[in-house]
Amino acid sequence: MPVLLVLVLATPAGIAYGVRLWRQQLASAKTYPTTPPGAPDEGRSGAGDPYFSDYGSSGYDAVKYAISMDWDVDTETLQATTTITAKATQPLRSFYVDLALRTRAVRVNGRPAQFEHSGFQDLKIIPASTIAAGADFTVVVEYSGTPGMIKRGDVAPWLKTGSEWTAAGEPESSAWWFPANDHPSDPALMDVTVRVPAGLEVVSVGRLESADSGTEADFDTWHWVSRQPMATYLNFVTIGQYQLQQGVVDGRPYVYAVSEQLSEAERSKAFAALQQSGQIVGDLEAMYGDYPFTELGGVVPAHQLRFAGLETQTRPVYERGAILNHGFAPEVITHELAHMWFGDNVTVRQWNDIFTSEAYASWSQWGRAERAGGRRANDELNRLYDRAKERDDFWRVTMIDPGPDKLFSTVYARGPMALQALRNVIGDKAFFALAREWSQNPGSRSVEEWMVKAQAKTSVDLVPFFQAWIIGSTAPARTAANGFR
Ligand SMILES: [Zn+2]
Repeated sequence: MPVLLVLVLATPAGIAYGVRLWRQQLASAKTYPTTPPGAPDEGRSGAGDPYFSDYGSSGYDAVKYAISMDWDVDTETLQATTTITAKATQPLRSFYVDLALRTRAVRVNGRPAQFEHSGFQDLKIIPASTIAAGADFTVVVEYSGTPGMIKRGDVAPWLKTGSEWTAAGEPESSAWWFPANDHPSDPALMDVTVRVPAGLEVVSVGRLESADSGTEADFDTWHWVSRQPMATYLNFVTIGQYQLQQGVVDGRPYVYAVSEQLSEAERSKAFAALQQSGQIVGDLEAMYGDYPFTELGGVVPAHQLRFAGLETQTRPVYERGAILNHGFAPEVITHELAHMWFGDNVTVRQWNDIFTSEAYASWSQWGRAERAGGRRANDELNRLYDRAKERDDFWRVTMIDPGPDKLFSTVYARGPMALQALRNVIGDKAFFALAREWSQNPGSRSVEEWMVKAQAKTSVDLVPFFQAWIIGSTAPARTAANGFR
């Protein structure tokens, strides 16, 4: 630590300032090569993410995606039109969206636009006339394709099991079914309409507006609408034969859906697990304040998923094995629903900010168990630390910069350990005030912003603590200053 910084940190007011200085140093340490800037009136491909340089775009903020899709079960092909409402943040002679399907036509503000595919998912759009900085504009993209045939390396978030198809995945999935600024720093409203042969169900995010337009005998059109913005990867769709349970809990409409490929006994077990969601939301509200959204839900598809659960907004997608495991189901439901506060209402600014999402979701499992009179969260910290302290590979993955290959690895253990250690250092009052203020203020924020907010909650100098738990690549020493009790 530079001498200047040490001096600055000598007073409580100086501490917050010190963390800001340090953040600037870290910000430069976190700079990675990204796509070169284009002309000043051209949007760029890529939102500047250090790990995924071609994900997202620059030059505009998405406001809403209205996705209207027709699913052909025989050819497993979709024909779709997505209307993007957006606001330009600079003059746009051209701009990009992410889409891995084949584009047929594009209109911008009602006029035909030129377009060009490049790379895996870049669609460059050249409107008939330049969009002015600050202007609202609409983009209508007509496209089609067979999403199940599309793979990026071994990434294939369009899943199929029998006559059931699902788009769900993190950090990527939207490019397999709708054009978007595919980056968590630009959440937007979602409106999902899917037309399928009668007899199939379609489940997505938000509120079920209608399950059938009633105008066609052989087809049903399902319409789902979100009332709060969401990141692109938090949207999902599944098409198949599903059993649905609908109702209202604590004034919020819920839809739970379980694949009919599960046996009747499995389905009733899965619904019993999903029905715990209302109670779990109540427990999480006691810790973090109001649930941020207006709908609740959960979906259990037939697929073997690569994840136990995914925090798709208002309606997590759960792996069937996880939800049918009586002991594990409440854990995974707690984890995914905690993401509604951490990860969904507040999205990661860049993918290397994953700590602010996964650490809280994972710690919530400990916090909820402790509140219910079960194992204390501090015992979990000590237990995991004892198990991991000799494992250099575990600590080498840092919380500030885990790297794209280790994005979803040690954060599930190191993350909640760091939070519990912080709780031990700053006390319950400051710890929960931080969690509430952070999660109740929607937006897209970084680990550095979180550290600054944490520092503002205490007169304890947190710089050495953050060095040990967030920045460091070795096991934190077992000291009181590092939060061990
Ligand atoms: Zn998670």
